[in-house]
Amino acid sequence: MKVIQVENIKKAFGENPVLRGVDLTVNKSEVVVIMGPSGSGKSTFLRCLTYLEEPNEGLIQIGPHELHTGGKLDRKRKKEIRELRKKTGFVFQSFNLFPNMTAIENVMEGPMTIHGVKSNEAKKVAEVLLCKVGLGDRCDHYPVQLSGGQQQRVAIARALSLNPTVMLYDEPTSALDPELVREVLQVIKDLAEEGMTMVIVTHEMNFAREVADRVIFMDDGYIVEQGTPEEIFDHPKEERTKQFLTMTK
Ligand code: ADP
Ligand code: MG
Repeated sequence: MKVIQVENIKKAFGENPVLRGVDLTVNKSEVVVIMGPSGSGKSTFLRCLTYLEEPNEGLIQIGPHELHTGGKLDRKRKKEIRELRKKTGFVFQSFNLFPNMTAIENVMEGPMTIHGVKSNEAKKVAEVLLCKVGLGDRCDHYPVQLSGGQQQRVAIARALSLNPTVMLYDEPTSALDPELVREVLQVIKDLAEEGMTMVIVTHEMNFAREVADRVIFMDDGYIVEQGTPEEIFDHPKEERTKQFLTMTK
């Protein structure tokens, strides 16, 4: 069953073409890792999926929600974008927690404001989610009182709180000290084992080997090559993939 279907997404910033026609299909419970050099369009692609950037061209379907690009931004379209976004949990490199809210308040906020869930109900769900990411004993801590790894795990719990169809991660461990990377990757791995559908931009190759069903190598606004981790890491076909892997080894 398809969860994401993207056809021919194009995006330019002014004169600078950043996505030159990207297609992607992701099936339920599939974990797709996207790699590629800095500036190749990985973040822009994830942002286009949820209309954080408006693509210039293409079709995006997440779950039952389908959006053709380029329409007028009227009320109907804004509603379609909101529906699409509700189905995706987005985890950024910089954890983006609300600094004036505790961990649990950060996780409660989405269900309360977006789904109109009552405070006591939202709290129960948030507690379960914080336990799931190993932070059951940190519910009342503020972001500044948490390590980067803990903050990112709160951010994952927050993204899960809206019960998304798919989770998107943009370099979730790039801002972390090396010793904190593992605890965040472990949470993502646990979600993979539970069958969560995920698209993850990361440079962590060992992690990609363990968790990815499919690895996509992107360069210069194109998908250059994709395949299983073994195909991409051990037997890359394209010259650009080989160069990238040599550089990052
Ligand atoms: P990656 O995540 O692979 O490093 P990005 O998607 O962040 O790549 O960026 C791809 C290109 O798009 C870069 O050249 C970057 O400068 C440009 N870019 C990204 N976001 C913007 C923006 N909001 N305005 C103008 N240019 C942008
Ligand atoms: Mg990026």
